[in-house]
Amino acid sequence: MVRVTSTDEASTVVRFAANHRIPFTVKGGGYSTTGASITHGGIVLDLSNLRRVHVNPVSRIVTAQGGALWEDIDVAAVQHRLSVVGSTLNHIGVAGATLGGGYGWLTGQYGLAIDNLLWARMILADGSVMLVSEDQHPDLFWAIRGAGQCFGVAIELAFRAHRQDHPVFAGTLLFSADNLPAIVEFANKFDILTDGNQGFWFGFAMPSSMDRCAIFVAIFYNGPQTAARQFFSPLFSIGPVVNETGMLPYDSLNGILNVMDTVSRRRILEGADITLPSDEPVGTRKSLRGSNITLPLDINFAASIYSEFDGIMREFPQARDSILLFELLPNTQITKVPNDATAFASRGPYHNVISLFGWQDADLDERMHSLQGDIMNQIGTRAGIACKPDYSVSKHGTGLYANYAGHDLPIEAIFGDNLPRLRELKKKYDPNNIFKKWHNLNTSTDTKNSI
Ligand SMILES: Cc1cc2nc3c(=O)[nH]c(=O)nc-3n(C[C@H](O)[C@H](O)[C@H](O)COP(=O)(O)OP(=O)(O)OC[C@H]3O[C@@H](n4cnc5c(N)ncnc54)[C@H](O)[C@@H]3O)c2cc1C
Repeated sequence: MVRVTSTDEASTVVRFAANHRIPFTVKGGGYSTTGASITHGGIVLDLSNLRRVHVNPVSRIVTAQGGALWEDIDVAAVQHRLSVVGSTLNHIGVAGATLGGGYGWLTGQYGLAIDNLLWARMILADGSVMLVSEDQHPDLFWAIRGAGQCFGVAIELAFRAHRQDHPVFAGTLLFSADNLPAIVEFANKFDILTDGNQGFWFGFAMPSSMDRCAIFVAIFYNGPQTAARQFFSPLFSIGPVVNETGMLPYDSLNGILNVMDTVSRRRILEGADITLPSDEPVGTRKSLRGSNITLPLDINFAASIYSEFDGIMREFPQARDSILLFELLPNTQITKVPNDATAFASRGPYHNVISLFGWQDADLDERMHSLQGDIMNQIGTRAGIACKPDYSVSKHGTGLYANYAGHDLPIEAIFGDNLPRLRELKKKYDPNNIFKKWHNLNTSTDTKNSI
């Protein structure tokens, strides 16, 4: 693992790995959902010392180094009453999330992180450094907006920032399971009610104090408390058993879900910037998978998914920290950009669904993957865009967010009609395919993620 402190050092590492054909990957925030930022027997280029952020309040441009986390940007930008579309969990890496697309609470207002990316400085497979934007190397700029991890190391990124001069209303709620119909009813009105300033996530989780799954809800309203309470009044009137919502300074917003933190932080040797090797277990074994739903969501179907998830949590108590979430963010800004305008190929009239399974025993790996796969397949095939009669990939996208897709799906299912162009660009910018750990553009399903 090479922890670099400059662009030059990073480029030397890339060149060295490429020249010696050493398996290679990049680590930013460490939240990969497929183990893509680790390698066995290869080199990890660790960018965690490159977290500097610069805010230009006049041009409203925020630049961040390739190892910055979203909390670095949120904290720096809000000092100038600005914000950037970033992940809903602020320990995630800016580059890792952005290069794959980048959803956040502000997506309803301003689109994806890539829709706000102005340029990126990329280290390519031969170690050269290239600035890419709409004007400079636009073909590569197209590719890095949705499949960037396959093309190089983003060593610096520049984003359009937006005025954020007031606090926001946000937080989490828990409801008992019998409230599911009322919550689905609210979800089914969300696309009509929203003016872009809101976000509404709901799903299933089993808090340690309960013996069956509860309905977990996270809400966001970019505006004053009274308007927020009015918007979400159908939820508040149901009567949550836990209510942790309220007004927050903007830079705390992306901390409300940090309880979902999946990255175990090992003890750090005092005074030294190295991680101790340890025989202690480093937290749970994990798997994250994504799918999508279109609205309206059939209440009986939602109830059947609840029952199945709840059944798994009861049968496997060690998996109780798992969660399944329907992530409703207004998608007008996302879908106003065509699917072929950037490599990101999941712009359509649907919402992401994620399940994050965690368990302890390696013996359960296969079982957990299979249970999770089954439940997510059911969601996609019975409630997702692909089951609509008029569905077309070129028009509606694939419905799969590459950063959520999991590690074993066919690459075609993620990038759809954009795959041929991506493969052509791969020949041009990374002919030896050294950037292949995230999703390997050059393979089909069975040979993905070999190292
Ligand atoms: C609990 C959880 C919550 C999540 N919530 C959101 C969310 O709200 N919105 C959202 O859009 N996504 C979300 N994600 C998905 C997340 O954006 C992706 O997993 C992202 O790739 C993580 O980036 P990272 O830098 O933290 O991870 P890493 O593990 O460091 O990297 C992930 C991938 O990006 C590559 N990479 C990292 N930095 C660079 C760089 N500078 N240049 C080139 N390649 C790089 C790595 O090689 C690896 O392939 C979530 C994931 C988890 C586990």
